[in-house]
Parts: sequence; C-alpha cells; structure tokens
Amino acid sequence: MRRILVAGNWKLNGSKASIQKLVTGIVAGAENLTDVSIAVCAPYVYLPFTAELLTKSVVGLGAQDVSEQDSGAYTGEVSASMLLETGCKYVIVGHSERRALFGEKDMDTARKFAAARKQGLIPILCLGESLAEREAGMTEVVVARQLDAVLELEGVQALNDAVIAYEPVWAIGTGKTATPEQAQAVHAFIRQRLAALDAGVAAKVQILYGGSVKGSNAAELFAMQDIDGGLIGGASLDAQEFLTICQAGQ
Ligand code: PEP
Repeated sequence: MRRILVAGNWKLNGSKASIQKLVTGIVAGAENLTDVSIAVCAPYVYLPFTAELLTKSVVGLGAQDVSEQDSGAYTGEVSASMLLETGCKYVIVGHSERRALFGEKDMDTARKFAAARKQGLIPILCLGESLAEREAGMTEVVVARQLDAVLELEGVQALNDAVIAYEPVWAIGTGKTATPEQAQAVHAFIRQRLAALDAGVAAKVQILYGGSVKGSNAAELFAMQDIDGGLIGGASLDAQEFLTICQAGQ
C-alpha cells in the first residue's frame, strides 16, 4: 500500500525564532509517528537553518520552487543542485500561487519538474482548477492539461520518483475544503489517466490533497482510497495542528 505523506508548505512565512519553535515541536512529535512520512517546505533562505534543526530527524526537507536552469546568468534563481546540497529531498513545483501570481505556465512547471528529478530531488507536482473552472465543469480538462505537460516532457515513468498534489485553487487558504468525495473523484481521475499509460506507476504514485486541510478534517480525507496524504499550508505553521494532521495519516 502507498504510504501517507504529509508535507507542510510554509509559503512566505517565518523567522529564525518562529522556525526554531515550530521545527522543534514537529521533530519531537514526529518521533512517535513511524507509519507516516513527514516533510516541511521552507523559504529558500531558511533551508540551511531548517536542515540543521532537522538533523537526525525523520522529517524531510523541501523547497517551494526551483529554477528550470542548472546554472548561469539567471539572477534570483535557485537551482535543483543547490537545493540538494542544502539538504532538500523534495521541491514543490507548479503551486497555484506560482501559476496565478507569477505567470508560471504548464511547460515552465514541467521543466522545473524535470530539473528537480535530474538532480534526484522528489518533485511535488501541484495540479488544480480555479473556482470558475470548476463551475464551468472544466476540472478534469484543467487537471489533465497540467498533468499532460509533465507527461509529454518527461514520460509517465518519471512519476515513479515524484509526488502529485491535487490542490483545488478555491480551497487554498480559503477555509473551504473540498469534501472527501470531491477530492477522491479528482484523485481517481488522475490515477486513471496515469493507469492508461502505465498501471504500475499509477498504483505507486502518492497523490496528496491540498486545500484548507486541518487537524479536524485530515482523517476523513486520508481515509479515501486515492488520497495518500496532504500538502498543508496555513495549518503547517502550528506544530500541534500539523502533528494532529500527521497523526491522521498513521
Ligand atoms: C497550499 O498552499 O498548498 C495549501 C494547501 O494551503 P492551505 O492549507 O492554507 O489551504
């Protein structure tokens, strides 16, 4: 069976003091959670500090974005090899905030996905529709288009070393969670689309749900057949709340 993964996305939040408190709390609580994988995705500048705090812990480190370039004249960019050297195991690619606020296109995300994999990082590929797209009945069309960009560039086997996160944009940071049934339907759609290409890859890949996951709703989401954990924004900034979500994955 697929193992549950709970990954925190801190976004543009934190200071050395708050991260020290948060990570110390998570590491202490995570010791007893042996049946769930846990990760935290920190802002770039705090990755080395967070890596230090995670030394000898089972909690994995991730970044929130990566350059599609390896090196060169790309001011402000951070490459996958730099993330790897800093202790990262995961990197989020194609988060809806990158797509909506920073103009990231499906193929940009696919190239970031490729750059991450090339260095041995595990990309967490975010897919998801906006409210307008859902209301127009376009959820599957949008999610398929976003997924297909990666499949076209990298091929289905690439998903053997990757994680998918289904994050309906209307549920992110809004307090409005997709019902377990709504989320399950899209997760099953994603898995079926992969199964049409390779049944083994489809059966293995972890598909996380993201969008206002909290301690109070994590268990019912994680109980669904095709939901293999969560990508957690706001609730990952509180150690107790985050650990309650992780506990739901045990
Ligand atoms: C996210 O940003 O990936 C996310 C799911 O945020 P939140 O949990 O706050 O909705």
